[in-house]
Amino acid sequence: MYVNMKYILDNANRDGYAVMAVNSVNMEMARAVIEAAEELHSPIIVQFGVGQMSKLAHPDQMVPMIRAMAEKASVPVCLNLDHGPSLQAAVDAIQRGFTNVMIDASSLPYEENVKRSRIVADLAHASGISCEAELGHVGQAADGDGRTSDMYTNVEQAVDFVKQTGVDALAVAIGTAHGKYPAGYVPVLDFERLAELKAALKMPLVLHGGSGSGEENIRKAVAGGINKINVCTDAFHAAEKAMKAKWEAEPNTDYLNIMMVAEAAIKKFVKDYILLIGSNDRYTFEAADNGSKE
Ligand SMILES: [Zn+2]
Repeated sequence: MYVNMKYILDNANRDGYAVMAVNSVNMEMARAVIEAAEELHSPIIVQFGVGQMSKLAHPDQMVPMIRAMAEKASVPVCLNLDHGPSLQAAVDAIQRGFTNVMIDASSLPYEENVKRSRIVADLAHASGISCEAELGHVGQAADGDGRTSDMYTNVEQAVDFVKQTGVDALAVAIGTAHGKYPAGYVPVLDFERLAELKAALKMPLVLHGGSGSGEENIRKAVAGGINKINVCTDAFHAAEKAMKAKWEAEPNTDYLNIMMVAEAAIKKFVKDYILLIGSNDRYTFEAADNGSKE
């Protein structure tokens, strides 16, 4: 079923687990992600950002296709706009039928972030979908972001932010960064800050830049109150690794077969990750009525 993200994350928040949000940039990825969730009776979030839409995940084709897959799926599926950079991008996603939009104004001054996030939350809610925003700033691993606490989410400010904007989920900065960390570097997460944020907000919290954080950090983040984990680099990497291995072993593998190798690798990666963050076996039929867009 095709549902909004609030429905998925309120359940996760209530019962203390996290749901994957996987950047799925083509049909094969989206299918692998949704099938993995179905096999483990887990809710799932499919997402992509504007950069990915301009390169490969063209929304004219991807949105109707994911919606069709979601409506047939036996588990709740949300389609989220990842890192909506502007009001225009958010409106476009709402009109296209996404069931959640993230507005990311986290690099702007606080008041501007509040203003933009409130507008997008109001528009999303008027269309029956939900909204995620970001406070503090999750930067880029390649730039060394996330290693010092100056961009971390401030607890008092977060309480004010949620009150003023009415967003349904909040992405917090506690030490992770987007993309690939330098070889051998494992980020240090501020779990004390996470505990303070969760105690003050009691709402679904989101971890961006989860890739490369290591299983221990992910497990502790979920135990500390993270309910959505964005995964992009690690999912791509699972496919790349399998494709390289296949081509090394069988250099003549053709396009059709290499794409199937990639899809199977992503599906296995997502299933393992679902088991790590505990969203397996969460879906029940009674719970399925709420939040459905239909
Ligand atoms: Zn992100």
